[in-house]
Amino acid sequence: MRQTIVAGNWKMNGSKESVSNLVTGILAGMAEVQSKVIVCAPFPYLSEVEALATHSQLQVGAQNLNVNASGAFTGEVSADMIKDFGVQYVIVGHSERRSLYGETDDVVAEKVQVALDNGLTPLFCIGELLEERESGNTEAVVSRQINAVIDRVGVEAFKNIIVAYEPVWAIGTGVTATPEQAQDTHAFIRSLLADHDSDIAQSTPILYGGSMNPANAEELIACEDIDGGLIGGASLKAEDFLRICKAG
Ligand code: PEP
Repeated sequence: MRQTIVAGNWKMNGSKESVSNLVTGILAGMAEVQSKVIVCAPFPYLSEVEALATHSQLQVGAQNLNVNASGAFTGEVSADMIKDFGVQYVIVGHSERRSLYGETDDVVAEKVQVALDNGLTPLFCIGELLEERESGNTEAVVSRQINAVIDRVGVEAFKNIIVAYEPVWAIGTGVTATPEQAQDTHAFIRSLLADHDSDIAQSTPILYGGSMNPANAEELIACEDIDGGLIGGASLKAEDFLRICKAG
């Protein structure tokens, strides 16, 4: 039985005041939440969020990491620095990193490896573009993305990886994959892992991301192979986020 996981990706949003209010609001509703809950904050707020979340069930994640340990990489943040804040999770391979910052499957796989080597749990994102879905290439794309990581770290490493299937056409668009579309792709992703190891396939959490909100979360999370959600826009309001957390 896989535990439901709901992770918030705040992206580049927030201020000292709004972040503090958001975390306080989430913490106030956590007693009724059964799911594991993670919030992925922008780097400058990690310390504050981690401090507010101490002694609570709320877990904290970063949104990116650099593969190097230290040195002349202006503007970048290493896995070690993320760990230094007591942060346990990091988003890797988000479609915005792939499309806006040119992160290839190889770069993403290396980031997954570096996160794991440093004791961080990657929230490893995959998903197809609209044209890839429309041309019938969804399975080919997610296979390529998953296999790049399996080739690099081996399937055993998925004991410490959370997969997030995020169809790019559903991210921030208000268009959500139907439960059938999402379930079919999640089942396919699990089958890719099962080709290597059926126990790992059964235990790996696969989250859905893409315009998940309080109105559609329950139906999506009820699907057999959907183990929770990675939430963008709806994670910025404590009330909406908590409603999704309670859907699991
Ligand atoms: C995301 O950015 O990971 C995401 C799922 O965004 P949204 O929920 O806003 O579509």
